[in-house]
Amino acid sequence: MKDSSDKVTRRQFVKLSSGVVAVSSMAFAGWGITEILVDEGPVDSWHKSVCRFCGTGCGVMIGKKDGKIARIRGDKEAHNKGVICIKGSMLAEISQLNGRLTKPKIRQDGELKEASWDEAMSLVAEKFSHSIIKNGPDSVAFYGSGQLFTEESYTANKLFKAGIGTNNVDGNPRLCMASAAVGYTQTFGKDEPAGAYEDIDHATCFFIIGSNTYEGHPPIWERIMIRKKSNPKVKIIVVDPRRTKTAQYADLHLPVAPGTDLLLLNAMAQIIVEKGLHDPGFIQEHVNFNDGKNTVSWNNYVTFLQDYRPEKVANELGLTPGQIEEAAYLFGSSDATLSLWTMGINQRVQGVFLNNCLNSLHLITSQICRPGATPLSLTGQCNACGGVRDTGSLSHLLPGGRFVNNPEHRQEMEEIWGVPEGTISSKPGYDAINLFKAMDEEKVAVCLIMCTNPAQSLPNASLYREAMKKCFIVVADIFEDTETAQYADVILPAAFYTEKTGVYGQTERRYQLVEKLIDPPGEARSDLEIIVDLAERLGHGGLIKNKTAKDTWDEWRKVSAHSKYNFEGITYERLQKERGLQWPCPTEDHPGTVRRYCKGDPFVQEGREIQFYGKPDNKAVVFLRPYIPSTEKTTDQYPLYLTTGRVIEQWHTGTMTDKISEISKTSGRGRFFINPQDAYEAKVTDGDEIELESRYGKITGMVEISEDESPGVLFASFFDSKFLINVVVSDLLDPFSKQPEYKITAVSIKKHQTTS
Ligand code: SF4
Repeated sequence: MKDSSDKVTRRQFVKLSSGVVAVSSMAFAGWGITEILVDEGPVDSWHKSVCRFCGTGCGVMIGKKDGKIARIRGDKEAHNKGVICIKGSMLAEISQLNGRLTKPKIRQDGELKEASWDEAMSLVAEKFSHSIIKNGPDSVAFYGSGQLFTEESYTANKLFKAGIGTNNVDGNPRLCMASAAVGYTQTFGKDEPAGAYEDIDHATCFFIIGSNTYEGHPPIWERIMIRKKSNPKVKIIVVDPRRTKTAQYADLHLPVAPGTDLLLLNAMAQIIVEKGLHDPGFIQEHVNFNDGKNTVSWNNYVTFLQDYRPEKVANELGLTPGQIEEAAYLFGSSDATLSLWTMGINQRVQGVFLNNCLNSLHLITSQICRPGATPLSLTGQCNACGGVRDTGSLSHLLPGGRFVNNPEHRQEMEEIWGVPEGTISSKPGYDAINLFKAMDEEKVAVCLIMCTNPAQSLPNASLYREAMKKCFIVVADIFEDTETAQYADVILPAAFYTEKTGVYGQTERRYQLVEKLIDPPGEARSDLEIIVDLAERLGHGGLIKNKTAKDTWDEWRKVSAHSKYNFEGITYERLQKERGLQWPCPTEDHPGTVRRYCKGDPFVQEGREIQFYGKPDNKAVVFLRPYIPSTEKTTDQYPLYLTTGRVIEQWHTGTMTDKISEISKTSGRGRFFINPQDAYEAKVTDGDEIELESRYGKITGMVEISEDESPGVLFASFFDSKFLINVVVSDLLDPFSKQPEYKITAVSIKKHQTTS
């Protein structure tokens, strides 16, 4: 350990702002920061927990002093090895923020007025019951979050699908990972990744596409840098139109033109095949080819790829053929290639196709099912995987990888849940965007929104903010000043995550337990208590018979045993002792599964090295996916692209992090980042205001000139409620995943003329 003179406080650290905080003596040399030690004060006791923000799922230790959450540090025993980012390091401050909602409120004469729980929940239940009787179960909905606990999403899903009888259960994971989930399911037959973070320590080539890992998942980036430092031959390829902080450390940065990267993936496949970098034996044994309708041959695939020869597509990509060839060579010839991606390819109208093609690159090169070789989608939220994907809490899903439009799957779940045959509707519910459209069309009249802020996070936000006015909106949140609360008819005070108990499941199929450490303020309740209360008032108390988090978890892990998601062996008792467990984990003496579909996975038959058991013939699928340009194109009227994303300091819509002055000072206010050339043409300079217009709306904001933005592409983040960037963002959807295309919106800009 360094001596104390080398220590910096978090506040100093935020100002230094590399964004990663560590408490160990781990060396961080090689990418611009050296070891940072957090100067923490004494506590009464330390408790094992998890960060409540992103899908990295960092293990943290929470220090209590005088009955309050007083300190946070990364847990050296966890997969993040003690490293946490600046958001996680502020969890103690966030848990002590003033202004918490402490009593239910009901809107009367335009104002939210305090009410008792009984008054509020009676009104909510009455609205639900009335709408269900009058217009049927599909006139009500649940809009949840990848930040609810697993037990909460599972219970809400069960209540709505097996109790009320509607599949109108969706939430913010639709906005961030639906394309990855559908991509995995189409390719492998099951959702969730084959690999794990541990693969970072073995990879010799990182292919990072559509992810600013440095800012979005800092401890993951830290681990990549440690790997690179340990083996300088390790190569990093970054595909991103922006010269992000991640791209700045790449051996090969491919600044593709926005929206064209499917051309790149197909061109890389073409080169891999032409140069013989594929693995014919693996393909023969483990892969089928499909053109989207039928199984086709290897020769069909080779012919399909001819349209994507580098010399044909390089110009549209904004690259040289040599850059494409180099990427293909590095990917295909590496001992172990690990692909990482997030919203850059998920939030696209071809998001599923992009995921298919990326999975395909791994399959044709056999860069899968080996240490370091795997596609690994990074998840946005702490519990989008475990809480929402695994429990099937989206409008087309049922638990454990089942689908509502599959009669056998419905029947299985009806038997497991003990409800009469035919209870679960065969009709998929509304996905996120179509749910809010249904509010606009007055088809959905009552909606419970938990732990999320759609009035700020939905694209084309003005349209859906208006839609919420036509629906009876019930919001459960920890604060009352969110954008969504403005549309609430009833607002319910929710417990913060340290004030309740439940399980998070992060990117690598790892479940971790969060235990209640303190009581919620005032009358605030856990989201599970709220859902259980609603169930009882709607007459479904017998269905939702487990009322506590532990009992609900025990039910859910037993339900999971009826699927290939089996984690029956992951008990609360084990999670209290162990630093998370990765499923499949069928029995209480099973150690969990680091890598799926290969030896060691309990579902792989004995004697087999690899088995893609999600498919009936045990073969994964390489899809022939054509490039279809987005209709969100630049024109004379809208000559530039806007792309949006995260910054390292802020979490999502900023409802928590933006209340921390150190964070908000460091991130600054929401603004447009613009290339000097575009700024010159618009006759604006740093600090000027511009009016930005798209097909969806207009917004005014400050510009900051940055060489890191590509000419023709502006960047803005979405955390600032005073800078509602999503009012101008496209809400076009991927036809398969129904995930919106946040990443590409054609826009025009002009200098804002003030009228003073
Ligand atoms: Fe880790 Fe993500 Fe929390 Fe940062 S926000 S500490 S990366 S889980």
